[in-house]
Amino acid sequence: MEKLLIATNNNGKVKELKELLKNTGIELITPFDIGLDLEVDEDGTTYAENAIKKAVAFAHASGLTSLADDSGVEVEALNGAPGLFSKRYSPKLNASNADRRAYMLENLKGKPRPWKARFHATIAIATSEKDVQVAEGNCYGEIIPEERGTGGFGYDAIFLLPELNKTMAELEQEEKNRFSHRAKAVMNAIPILREIFQT
Ligand code: IMP
Repeated sequence: MEKLLIATNNNGKVKELKELLKNTGIELITPFDIGLDLEVDEDGTTYAENAIKKAVAFAHASGLTSLADDSGVEVEALNGAPGLFSKRYSPKLNASNADRRAYMLENLKGKPRPWKARFHATIAIATSEKDVQVAEGNCYGEIIPEERGTGGFGYDAIFLLPELNKTMAELEQEEKNRFSHRAKAVMNAIPILREIFQT
């Protein structure tokens, strides 16, 4: 059976996507598994543009159907920033995820709480340059001023899900995979995958 390439170099995303797709009956493979070292310039003006660009580039390079995710966190009090630029949100060169979280909190200092926010994910599935489909998902919550939890990646430790009173980083993987933006986007992408892979 044809394999699905998880078109990302982000290990946090790989872990979540593998778990989210495990019951589809589709064989999953990563760029690492096939020795594919590809960095795609994320210069689009929308999540969809970036996700499509990544999925198409990986499909082209591997000859496999590829699934890419472009995601970010949008904070109301920061007028929607960092959004598309979440991965690069820091004045520091070679910033870490912790640097980006600290920078976000610095920018929010003095602004009235709650700091409402949403995570967004757009998934693109490309079988070739001409055949790409997208699916989206959102997760609503708030940014909190102190880090909590050690799971997840990126902004998880400061993103609170008020209904659970837990940050994304305090959730078990299985729990994050019930509530996250990526989980919702994958849920919307599964009918597309079933059609392609006939599972
Ligand atoms: P990109 O999709 O490669 O542009 O990266 C999206 C960036 O958004 C990541 O590097 C994280 O900083 C952030 N992000 C996206 N999804 C999540 C998530 O589930 N948890 C925490 N941060 C996330």
